[in-house]
Amino acid sequence: MKYLIVLVVILVGVWFWRNNRRTELRNKPPRPSAPPVAGPHQQATEVVACALCSLHLPRTDALPGSRGLYCSDAHRREAET
Ligand SMILES: [Zn+2]
Repeated sequence: MKYLIVLVVILVGVWFWRNNRRTELRNKPPRPSAPPVAGPHQQATEVVACALCSLHLPRTDALPGSRGLYCSDAHRREAET
């Protein structure tokens, strides 16, 4: 009877330990996904100012001219003529 109690205590201890590990594993995945806020994709969207009106826009949307970057084709023509 004494051994049965010891066995039950050990089984409860193992069950608790496994339960704790399972909740730890469940809580871990969101942590590595939090830092990508400052990931490499955000550095790609660099903001530049239009050489004529100083409007700020992403570099990918800016139109390159001989005197700088412009927000639109109209401003590029206006500044370079
Ligand atoms: Zn402009």
